[in-house]
Parts: sequence; structure tokens; C-alpha cells
Amino acid sequence: MCEQEPEAPDESNLVAPQHGCPSCGERDADNLVWLNDDRVECQTCSTVYTPGRGWD
Ligand SMILES: [Zn+2]
Repeated sequence: MCEQEPEAPDESNLVAPQHGCPSCGERDADNLVWLNDDRVECQTCSTVYTPGRGWD
């Protein structure tokens, strides 16, 4: 017996849609680096933004 999981995107590492990059839509937590308490830098497009508030 071999359990094969269907190909599904791993969403366990994605941030909430409203917290994603406002520029490129990046939601992978690995590509979103916190600079301080409320600012995040997107490693995909280098945009710095405040999650939940959009552009700063
Ligand atoms: Zn981005």
C-alpha cells in the first residue's frame, strides 16, 4: 500500500491574501521578510509595504 497525495499546492506557508505583496501578489512567507513590527519586504519584487494597509 502506498499512499499518494494528489498534487496540491502547499498553502500552509502562504500568508493571508490581504497580507500579500500589493505589487506582485507574493504570498509565500519565505519570500516576505519582516523588517520591523509592521513592515515587510517582498523578496520577489523588493517592495516594502505594511501588511493590511497596503502601500506605505
Ligand atoms: Zn512583491
